[in-house]
Amino acid sequence: MVCACLDDIRKRLTSLILGRNCFHVILIELKMVKRGKINHIGKRTGVMQVNLSKILIGTMRVGDSDVTGRIIQRAIDLGSNYIDTVPLYRWSNNDENSETWVGCAVSSGNYRQRVLVSTKSAVSDGGLGLGSYNPSIGFGIRMKEQFSSMLEQSLSRLNLPYVDFYHLWMCHTKQQFEEAFKPGGWYEGLQKAQEDGKIKHLEITTHGDADTIIRFLETGAFETVTLPLNVLNVTRMKAVEYCARKGIPVLAMNPLGGGLLAVDSHLKELAFKYLLSLENVHILVGFTALEEVDDAWRMKREYEENPVSTETILQEVRQLIPNAEPHCTGCGYCQPCPKFIEVGSALSHYNLYHYLNLQEAKKAFLDLQWNPRYKLSNCIACGQCEKRCPNTLPVRKIIENAKKALYAQE
Ligand code: SF4
Ligand code: SF4
Repeated sequence: MVCACLDDIRKRLTSLILGRNCFHVILIELKMVKRGKINHIGKRTGVMQVNLSKILIGTMRVGDSDVTGRIIQRAIDLGSNYIDTVPLYRWSNNDENSETWVGCAVSSGNYRQRVLVSTKSAVSDGGLGLGSYNPSIGFGIRMKEQFSSMLEQSLSRLNLPYVDFYHLWMCHTKQQFEEAFKPGGWYEGLQKAQEDGKIKHLEITTHGDADTIIRFLETGAFETVTLPLNVLNVTRMKAVEYCARKGIPVLAMNPLGGGLLAVDSHLKELAFKYLLSLENVHILVGFTALEEVDDAWRMKREYEENPVSTETILQEVRQLIPNAEPHCTGCGYCQPCPKFIEVGSALSHYNLYHYLNLQEAKKAFLDLQWNPRYKLSNCIACGQCEKRCPNTLPVRKIIENAKKALYAQE
């Protein structure tokens, strides 16, 4: 066993020399072998003994404490068994944010026993670099002591003694990954919390490209991965297929393309069916209203009664949206802009106009030109937003195209 292990490490050192891996990854693997988390060939052992439901509860877009509570309890009653939250979502202050609302929602009845609760923190600030320390919202957690106080804050807001899952959040690049796993860093804080029984499982949330995601998962450190995936954004399918082979559940964020796919009920059904058709994929739905919970579970039931192949669904979508391509999802991680443009909000109009040919979207955009947040004509192409976009979109090019389309005289 020890020889085989050394053999494997030798192979990995070779790949380091070839530039395919990094030293810290090997250290992590050594630690995980020692702790019995992975075996000598890097295959995870005894992980994911819980079955995730197909529809998961996202809290990025929830409204307030009361609505959140009803959404969460309804979803759990229908069968959802996982809640995704993070200090940032709906953050107003220490008492008003998605974590406190989740804690409140699961505190009554036996809801806590029926659902897995997750939260997150990041070494980054959502973009592609390293973030400054901002514990209120979970950014820039780069030292193990920062991790510990961050976790205590989350547990206190959630009013729970432990969380089932904790994410290395917004880890898109090798630099961010290495920062998290450096000596005395984020991962050491997580290990201590796991030893203290405050965290059960480790996940990763990433907008990295497929090969980068696979390299993260190859370390064996993570039991699930949350990544952007929807019928219009399939650029990470290689990573999804890797997960299917390895038995790693994929949590699909952005299932409705930042709302683009929700403007038309048929498109929305197709978007859901697409993700339902992928076996190891679980749909993280950012619910905003109670009806959406019922709707999601209805679509799941109907799909199971009348399944359709992934390819058939994709063909239908291609006919409806022939110019489908990765697009701005309105996540807002590219802010701030020196010209005060809210890129995600402004480009949401372009998405509707360009992809779905909705003329009203163009009119609404032009009506909003008094407001600098929508005034794409003020863009000086400085590229700051492009550097921060975790979806690695060519933002300046998209803005240029949007300007041409939205300001054009009919
Ligand atoms: S440009 Fe990128 S970071 Fe900015 S809102 Fe769109 S997807 Fe998000
Ligand atoms: S490229 Fe334009 S929209 Fe992006 S940050 Fe610069 S000025 Fe703002």
